[in-house]
Amino acid sequence: MKQSEMLLPTLRENPADADIKSHQLLVRAGFIRQVASGIYSYLPVGQRVLRKVEQIVREEMEKAGSMEMIMPALQPSELWKETGRWNNFGPELMRIHDRHGREFAMGATHEEVVTGLIRDTVNTYKRLPLNVYQIQTKFRDEKRPRFGLLRGREFLMKDAYTFHDSYESLDVAYDRMFTAYQNIFSRLGLNFRAVIADSGAMGGKDTHEFMVLSEVGEDTIAYSDESSYAANIEMAPVVATYEKQNEEPKEKQKVETKDMKTMEQVADYLGHTVEEGIKSLMFKVDEKLVLVLTRGDHEVNDVKLKNLYDASYIDLATEEETRAAMNAGFGSLGPIDVPENVEIVADNAVQALVNASCGANEDGYHYINVTPHVDFEVSQFADLRFIEEGDPSPDGKGTIVFAKGIEVGHVFKLGEFYADKMGAKFLDENGKAKTMVMGCYGIGISRTLASIVEQYHDESGITWPKQIAPYQVHLLSLNVKKEEQKELADSIYHTLVAAGVEVLYDDRKERAGVKFTDSDLVGIPLRITVGKRASEGVVEFKERLTGEQDEIHQEELLNRIN
Ligand code: ATP
Ligand code: MG
Ligand code: MG
Ligand code: MG
Repeated sequence: MKQSEMLLPTLRENPADADIKSHQLLVRAGFIRQVASGIYSYLPVGQRVLRKVEQIVREEMEKAGSMEMIMPALQPSELWKETGRWNNFGPELMRIHDRHGREFAMGATHEEVVTGLIRDTVNTYKRLPLNVYQIQTKFRDEKRPRFGLLRGREFLMKDAYTFHDSYESLDVAYDRMFTAYQNIFSRLGLNFRAVIADSGAMGGKDTHEFMVLSEVGEDTIAYSDESSYAANIEMAPVVATYEKQNEEPKEKQKVETKDMKTMEQVADYLGHTVEEGIKSLMFKVDEKLVLVLTRGDHEVNDVKLKNLYDASYIDLATEEETRAAMNAGFGSLGPIDVPENVEIVADNAVQALVNASCGANEDGYHYINVTPHVDFEVSQFADLRFIEEGDPSPDGKGTIVFAKGIEVGHVFKLGEFYADKMGAKFLDENGKAKTMVMGCYGIGISRTLASIVEQYHDESGITWPKQIAPYQVHLLSLNVKKEEQKELADSIYHTLVAAGVEVLYDDRKERAGVKFTDSDLVGIPLRITVGKRASEGVVEFKERLTGEQDEIHQEELLNRIN
């Protein structure tokens, strides 16, 4: 491609609103341009990189047995009403209506559409399992669109969905998708961790996020420096400190919580102060009931933390508060390791409290009017604290390190939630109708692109890894007015193109300085500069990432490139 014919508008200055490198560089190097807050155009080089990321994703999806399809961005409200998410998704779901007044959602995600499709097309175990994916534009009216492509309101996502006749079958698909994700992010050259994540309000069980390590990440993760253990800090276990090991265990307290109004009061009652940084206090029912502290930024819809605690506990919460609490992840923890000396025994009333705290009842996320009456026993709560840097890893291997992460992917065992709400059933071997079991798996394609730039740049611009670079070679003709330079550059261009090399050819009538600056900014991995020694057939060959450069004869070029 000749740069003189290309739409590649580079800028010398950072856009005023761009605080982070990927945003600054993608705009300055001519990959993207903002159209409105959180909404971008991808210019030709941007589109080429997107396509390359997509291609890697496609290859790994196919390997994992997923089939590509495409579903509509416009989704009738009726589907979302079936699952209750028309109300519960909140203001992030963009809504429009057609000329007849029918309401539609702009697809923020596709569980409803895909479950509706499979419900209508598959009704026997013989057709299961199924694994489908799409790469498509998603719409979310983010409260704070920012950081360029990292948090957009319109963005590109790969979303996959699996359907199963059993949880065992789901486990198999989940593992395959997990491996596919590891392959994808490795192939993209990213430094990432797969972390144990919070299963949110969807009531699912296993879920992992794929986090690119980066200072600009909005999540904090805790990982082992020696093993693959890694967790979103929201999910990092509470650990018991054994400093007081020699003391006699405290006498078990009997706690009556029915008169308490807030979670803080519960905590106080237990002799445990809600420390700064601790954002929520939750109950989880598994086989045991556990009192859990988590942390994370839980400011949602302007509802302050204290209100969240209130909303989660007392029965005076408004539907809005409850939804906010739910969005913040209340009552929704995955498995954690409970230290042996910590145990809370509770009766069934606690289940009601748990339901109330996440605003759930049997048919969804509606707040129920339950006044919890809880009796439970606690021992040694004062010894509980969050995991910290330097602690031994919960898997016994290595030491915990904290890092900031960008969530680029998310895999999730949904279980029967959507299939149940939407009546997606199949007949098993005995002709008995059963509810399908589902999984869902997302990758933010455009966010991943920006994450790559966060990890691959220097002070002069982007340093694309070659597997996703928009072009492999940037060919610079320093002075197009000099006939011998132009001739040599033209001839190299044609040779490389004929050999199947992706070349961007800077044939513009610009000064050498401009060409070098632009070239560093755009970040194509290899640069060939045709300049003073053109008459000898000698050019400069430079690697963008390492800065290594030497002069070589044009005849050696193809060997050096391959
Ligand atoms: P976040 O916690 O950052 O808001 P999410 O958990 O809401 O993300 P998911 O519903 O898990 O996102 O969507 C799957 C993937 O889509 C995410 O892992 C992320 O890579 C990407 N994604 C989500 N929201 C955005 C956004 N606003 N802009 C760009 N990519 C996004
Ligand atoms: Mg989100
Ligand atoms: Mg998330
Ligand atoms: Mg997520």
